[in-house]
Amino acid sequence: MDGVQYDLAVVGAGPGGYVAAIRGAQLGLRVALVEAEHPGGVCLNWGCIPTKALLTGAELVDSLRSNGPAFGIHSDVVTLDYGRAVDHSRRVAGRLSKGVESLLRKNRIDWVAGFAKLTSGTSLDVSGAGSIGARSILLATGSREWVPPGVEVDGQRVLTSKEALASRTIPARLLVIGAGAVGVEFAYVYAMYGAQVTILEMADQMLPGADPDVALALESEFARKGIKVLTGARFENIDASGSEVRVEYQCEGRGSEEEARGASIAVDQVLVAIGRRPNSADLGLDPLGIETDARGFVVTDAWHTTQLQTVLAIGDVAGGPLLAHKASEQGIAAVEHLAGIERPPLDLSRVPACIYAQPQVASVGLTEAAARAEWGDRVRVGKFPFAASGKAVAAGHAAGFAKLIVDGEMGEILGAHVIGAGATELIAEVSLAMQLEATTRELIHTIHAHPTLSEAIWESALAAEGRSLNS
Ligand code: FAD
Repeated sequence: MDGVQYDLAVVGAGPGGYVAAIRGAQLGLRVALVEAEHPGGVCLNWGCIPTKALLTGAELVDSLRSNGPAFGIHSDVVTLDYGRAVDHSRRVAGRLSKGVESLLRKNRIDWVAGFAKLTSGTSLDVSGAGSIGARSILLATGSREWVPPGVEVDGQRVLTSKEALASRTIPARLLVIGAGAVGVEFAYVYAMYGAQVTILEMADQMLPGADPDVALALESEFARKGIKVLTGARFENIDASGSEVRVEYQCEGRGSEEEARGASIAVDQVLVAIGRRPNSADLGLDPLGIETDARGFVVTDAWHTTQLQTVLAIGDVAGGPLLAHKASEQGIAAVEHLAGIERPPLDLSRVPACIYAQPQVASVGLTEAAARAEWGDRVRVGKFPFAASGKAVAAGHAAGFAKLIVDGEMGEILGAHVIGAGATELIAEVSLAMQLEATTRELIHTIHAHPTLSEAIWESALAAEGRSLNS
């Protein structure tokens, strides 16, 4: 690669980097994509995709158990082989990673294998591949699991999501530390495949930051499925030296009195899912004066430019929300801006967030509390329970609701929070409505097919206007 001059060098082939590289090539830029591991990054190899493959299996088991009898299907003879589900998830990840490889070839993007470090604002040193020069460099190096000091991940009894995704066995007792998206999804998978699962969450609700109604509904659905959730529970120490793993914690939440005092639990495996840290430390940022915040996320402006005009940063390494679609959209926006295309910057307040356990959870925009803080009494809420949806009840998925937050004066949609079957697909309608600055009236005038789960969005718009029909 020595001597080749590119228009754009992208570092990291996750959903941020590879999408940015393709968009750059589409716009006529000569692009190099540098990656230390595999095409697709965390999302495709160790995140979004393999977890969704495992969640599909868990959902099948759940459906058979909870809904089978009502449909005359008895699951007593079903045997569970989690190892095969993991094999399937690895095959899916491998296949999609190869798919990214061929997309890169199709778009004539130069693939450079190795670990990259900035040597100036327009050059990189890549381990094993020499130096690369480019007019612009886009950092899309993502993030990795955060493990608190004193916790040793051994991959056997103390795991992060990465080790868990490679592990073919289900422990008898699992403790998940952290009730964010990753913790919730793994708790559900392991519980459905037979583990006795407890979740410890330091905040006073599951899914910290989510709409509290949704978080409470998820907690009670998880309780029905036998997953125990301790909120307000701060983990203190993991001792894996004995025959079982003992986890000490301080619990000020809604657990029993004994739990509040007890502050210790014995399990066979612990999954640490309490957050992620950016891959920024080894990029050579400091000598070039590229600023990072206290946790190491690269600081950028609205067009994803760092202090150094020729260096941009997008995706997880540039801060939250740590989501694949946000990384991709930032990559597209950064490259289009670079190529001189007129477009608006990305509006982070409209990034949807989804969780794929059952019930599913999806949200976009403001929570009710945030909307009230900003808009006061103008805020109206329209809520529709899935128990009143013909499609949901017929399918045996009556749990959950759709909640729409609107500006009562203009009818503009400020946010939506959905928990229940199909939530992760339903949220796209609200995202589009918000992008088009549509009002509740326009949602109401949109004809929704019957019976569909999408009627829940239509009904919640009706409810916000005080015109509920089916609830
Ligand atoms: P990454 O995907 O992290 O990719 C960065 C790439 O850069 C990596 O391949 C890495 O090897 C490479 N790299 C790093 N440093 C260098 C260097 N110096 N030189 C060369 N290469 C380098 N998000 C969702 O939206 N939906 C989900 O359902 C979802 N599920 C998830 C489940 C799990 C278990 C996890 C852990 C995450 C999940 N996420 C999900 C988050 C999602 O994976 C990330 O937000 C997304 O991958 C970020 O994309 P990125 O392009 O910024 O970086």
